[in-house]
Amino acid sequence: LAKKNRLEHFAYYNPEMEEQMLGRLNVIRQLRTDFANNCLELWYQPQFSLATKKVIGAEALLRWRTADGTFIPPGVFIPLAEYSGLIIEIGDWVVTEACQQLKRLEDDFNHISISVNVSIPQFRRGDFVDTTINTIRSQNIKPSRLELEITENILMDDPQIVIDALARLKEEGVSIALDDFGTGFSSLSYLQKLPLNRLKVDRSFVTDINKEGQSVIAETIINLGQKMNLKVIAEGIEEIEQQDHLIKLGCDEVQGFYYAKPMPEDEFVKFLHDNR
Ligand code: C2E
Ligand code: MG
Ligand code: MG
Ligand code: MG
Repeated sequence: LAKKNRLEHFAYYNPEMEEQMLGRLNVIRQLRTDFANNCLELWYQPQFSLATKKVIGAEALLRWRTADGTFIPPGVFIPLAEYSGLIIEIGDWVVTEACQQLKRLEDDFNHISISVNVSIPQFRRGDFVDTTINTIRSQNIKPSRLELEITENILMDDPQIVIDALARLKEEGVSIALDDFGTGFSSLSYLQKLPLNRLKVDRSFVTDINKEGQSVIAETIINLGQKMNLKVIAEGIEEIEQQDHLIKLGCDEVQGFYYAKPMPEDEFVKFLHDNR
């Protein structure tokens, strides 16, 4: 039996896995260095009201430009930043950048909000709420102009910690959105416990919205949001037909390549001026 186990154990070892692991550790090391050297950028993707077609805000999205000029996609490095805990420092930086941006936009675009994505490890650390509130206060911006995007998965390991933290932030006036709604693992019962302002309809429910029988989830999310007095924003709109369908379903707001891709800060400010 022992021999068999050993053999089985041996069967699990595979050099590709080790290589993959070493590769990941290298990426984490490089990310830590590049973050310290200011090689992370915050890009902005505009969000629009479907009623007015005006820009109402933007989602801030991390971009990592390595020394040789290539971009590593967030889908690759965010999970590693979360795994290593680096996301805590990076997340604080993101909030600070977004608040500084809101301050700079205050004179000309006081109505614009900025949404930042927040990961589970940031909540696990006890001082996320205080740090975020301090940043908002030190920039002296209206708290509701900052929105925190959380996903349902954030409730997976300790929902009460997250719910309490969000309640404190909401009390301070910060806005909260539920991102990628419908793609996670949480039960609907949490929806009523979370102090939300907005629901984000995931791109996967928008992509085929015009195909027979494929719009039912988007429609249900929009109705649910309306019944709960939440704004509903759909993400991933790439075609005008998708927009038109979302208008028919009563969706409030949109974000997607059809309108604008994420862009560096200076381009975003120019975009705001050109589209006022
Ligand atoms: P997300 O929060 O769901 O962000 C939306 C993603 O959809 C972004 O990808 C955006 O570029 C992309 N997108 C927007 N419109 C369209 C469209 O019309 N078509 C297509 N194909 N894609 C569209 P991105 O920037 O690659 O970010 C991926 C994910 O990485 C984000 O998903 C978010 O979960 C995470 N992320 C990005 N920045 C941060 C951050 O600062 N902190 C944390 N914790 N996560 C972040
Ligand atoms: Mg998001
Ligand atoms: Mg999303
Ligand atoms: Mg998504």
